[in-house]
Amino acid sequence: MSAPLWIPTRRAGLDRLAAFLPRAGRTYARERNVDRGPEDRANVSALSPWIRRRLITEEEVLAAVLARHGYANAEKFIQEICWRTYWKGRLELRPSVLTRFDDERIALEARLAEERELARAVERATAGETGIACFDAWARELLATGYLHNHARMWFASVWIFTLRLPWQIGADFFFKHLLDADPASNTLSWRWVGGLQTRGKHYLARADNIRSYTEGRFDPRGLLSEDARPLPDEGAPPPIVPLPPADPVPHETVALLLTEEDLHPESLGIECDVCAVAALASPPIAGAERPAARFGAGAIEDGLRRATAHFDARCDGVLVDGDALLAWARGCGARTVVTAYPPTGLIARELARTEAALARDGIRLARIRRAWDDAAWPHATSGFFAFKERIPKLLDRIAARTSNA
Ligand SMILES: Cc1cc2nc3c(=O)[nH]c(=O)nc-3n(C[C@H](O)[C@H](O)[C@H](O)COP(=O)(O)OP(=O)(O)OC[C@H]3O[C@@H](n4cnc5c(N)ncnc54)[C@H](O)[C@@H]3O)c2cc1C
Repeated sequence: MSAPLWIPTRRAGLDRLAAFLPRAGRTYARERNVDRGPEDRANVSALSPWIRRRLITEEEVLAAVLARHGYANAEKFIQEICWRTYWKGRLELRPSVLTRFDDERIALEARLAEERELARAVERATAGETGIACFDAWARELLATGYLHNHARMWFASVWIFTLRLPWQIGADFFFKHLLDADPASNTLSWRWVGGLQTRGKHYLARADNIRSYTEGRFDPRGLLSEDARPLPDEGAPPPIVPLPPADPVPHETVALLLTEEDLHPESLGIECDVCAVAALASPPIAGAERPAARFGAGAIEDGLRRATAHFDARCDGVLVDGDALLAWARGCGARTVVTAYPPTGLIARELARTEAALARDGIRLARIRRAWDDAAWPHATSGFFAFKERIPKLLDRIAARTSNA
């Protein structure tokens, strides 16, 4: 299981989980920070592309790990899964952070068109041509595979911001375009955390001896890194917390089911009514269909459609390219309710919000079903992870209760 095979199906995700499970306990806690390179990922799960799309869900990963190792032995791995839940909740409660990021990124792209020197520096960084061997190797690895070890992501972002002095928003966008697990919450908020914007005044500085040690000597950027840089300038007051919008109840009437890359396990969404048709809304296009991330996303949607049509014994209406195609489909699909998994803050949520009013004008309701896990966890992501972490045992009780009732 060393070099992951990135096969975009639920089956492949479950196989990867089964293969990793024996190492998810104390072995993971001991070895997880080591980046041995793309050919050896045995010390981490490499499950993020599947978890990101909920081809496999956090709850089922946690249930499997708890059953195998118990809480005390698997605490570290459980916490990492919960980091994802935390970031999702954190952004859900402060969606304006993403709006601000998008505005700043767009403004910076305009600046790149004007400032040739800056544009060339970004080109060198994203092509892996800076002359800092570790950084260049990570850039090339990301382009070729779509995956980077967590520690490499931290080092990369830190070198980008503090050594190369490039705008963090352009780096976050580079990650977002190429990561197989690209996620608006985990990615944007992690870049902010590295820069010192997320936990105010606390930034992450990549250090040469740390890189040498945790790459087991593969890299040694001694003398090349800014190891005493200051955090990025403070942004002022943090954005206000907005309460979670209410989720919709699971419908009882006949529905049409809409899949998105936000959640591709509709079998566990709690839908028990008749499903007459299934379609998937494609994620808004990002240039470069040949990127590994684009291939993984398209394959994952195909897998979701295949499973959903079999599970619900429904017609498959294929992939809808945008909200207008969704509208046309919904009008003719034979149901007055389109049900979908709740889309967290991001591009899909925006596209659905854009289409909802037009659907309503035609008497079609969009029902967003939120998972009980998210409902239980997200409201607690109000401050730092430390406070959130205290809630983990209670969250896990839910899983234990469900497992014992099953
Ligand atoms: C700058 C930066 C950008 C990142 N961008 C993303 C992103 O777009 N999408 C993404 O899923 N993760 C992101 N991460 C978090 C983390 O690096 C990846 O989740 C992890 O490396 C995935 O590899 P894995 O599955 O082998 O993780 P493992 O170590 O095996 O962890 C198990 C699972 O826990 C979750 N997880 C672990 N660490 C984190 C973390 N720090 N934050 C959130 N979830 C975590 C993931 O779902 C992961 O699959 C980012 C981290 C940094 C520093």
